[in-house]
Amino acid sequence: MTLQFRNTLTRRTEPFVPLAPGRAGIYTCGPTVYDHAHLGNLRTFMFEDLLVRHLAWRGFDVFRVMNLTDVDDKTIRGAREAGLSLDAFTRPFKDAFFADLETLRIRPADVYPAATDHTEAMIGMIGALIERGHAYQAGDGSVYFRIESFPEYGKLARIDRAGLKPGARVDQDEYEKEQVGDFALWKAWTEKDGDVAWDSPWGRGRPGWHIECSAMSTQYLGPTFDIHCGGVDNLFPHHEDEIAQSECCTGKPFVRYWLHSAHLIVEGRKMSKSEGNFFTLPQILDQGWTGREVRYLLLSTHYRQQLNFTFDGLKAARTSLHRLDELRRRLEDRAGDAEPGGLPGFASARREAFGAALDDDLNISGALGHLFDLVREANTALDHDGMDPPAAAAVRDLLTEDLDHVLAVMEPDPSETGGDADLEALLERRNRARAERNWAEADRLRDHLADLGWKVQDGPDGSRLVKI
Ligand code: AMP
Ligand code: ZN
Repeated sequence: MTLQFRNTLTRRTEPFVPLAPGRAGIYTCGPTVYDHAHLGNLRTFMFEDLLVRHLAWRGFDVFRVMNLTDVDDKTIRGAREAGLSLDAFTRPFKDAFFADLETLRIRPADVYPAATDHTEAMIGMIGALIERGHAYQAGDGSVYFRIESFPEYGKLARIDRAGLKPGARVDQDEYEKEQVGDFALWKAWTEKDGDVAWDSPWGRGRPGWHIECSAMSTQYLGPTFDIHCGGVDNLFPHHEDEIAQSECCTGKPFVRYWLHSAHLIVEGRKMSKSEGNFFTLPQILDQGWTGREVRYLLLSTHYRQQLNFTFDGLKAARTSLHRLDELRRRLEDRAGDAEPGGLPGFASARREAFGAALDDDLNISGALGHLFDLVREANTALDHDGMDPPAAAAVRDLLTEDLDHVLAVMEPDPSETGGDADLEALLERRNRARAERNWAEADRLRDHLADLGWKVQDGPDGSRLVKI
């Protein structure tokens, strides 16, 4: 199986052939830093993490850019309402975002350009578009992209341009536009913007959201690059507009492969700030779930399928991780100090199948299926003395190193016991004492665990240990 991806641009699954052999340049639309990221946003960043990790596992030298949208309508409104400068308002959300990525073991991008640091590149691009007849300044001072000037407009979203003809009702705010589909490249300053403004040849103002991504992707990845990702809600108009701006500016194809992830939903609706149906990662952690469990949950549904978020899903993630922890412990016991030998036949076959599934447009369900076949087979071999210590060491390394370069779920979080058998036995005894209403013994064991540095947390799914 060669590595292949479903390309939204062509609506086909295509072999991945990068511009430069062995390298992959990737741009991923980053967060708008006006609030905490919610699990839906994080689902998209998790899919991108799987993409990056799998490419790296297959030997590609990946260069990944993720922007931070720190100037747009929402960030400006937020800063105004908070009475803060744009920088002071967005900084804590940037920090919180990086903390979330770390908790979820998402590999950092190579660069995180912030829109506010790249206005010069945006202004340069807008100037070039005006020069080539693709943009115009309207009476209100704002600059718009003229979609009529780009016959290919709509090729990504498969939008019929006929639906965007003049005469269609034009939004009040944007009455100066020549045509309804024209979109802002530069927004002239208004009172609402306060002191958020930059000088430009078209007067003071600020960039539109779409030009931010065109300018930053081109600056770091060149006029044409390999992969552009985002959630499916960004496909139109954001990504369509990026293509129009970039291709009209450089005269070159913009992106070779477009990959879009489906939404994370809650009770049938997209998780979003405006629906008010969202959870942030810290909210979930406060309920006693771990970053590793959330990672597993977000990772384990194919990126093009909607992921329905439920607490049962988190419980299932916890159970799956316990099975992996359990096998790792058994393998460690069997391996002792032995040097890893050759992989047993069943394990190399499962490794092969795992990789082939991910090569097929990141088929994670298939890959995890093969992983758990491996777990079952390895447990059976251990039950029947079918694995000598060097073989056990090799299977352990397969799980904790090789496959974990892609999955990053084998190492327990510091807040988990890591399956420490002694601690778990103590917890078990404490729970039994409680069930038998032997409060004195239960308290004694709880205090003993506390002396060892672990707090007992009782929740709807039983008790667990959390590091103090
Ligand atoms: P934003 O912070 O709104 O700019 O969004 C950051 C990323 O999250 C974008 O790629 C969006 O497409 C994506 N996104 C937003 N809501 C969801 C959701 N419910 N499920 C999956 N991805 C989402
Ligand atoms: Zn973008």
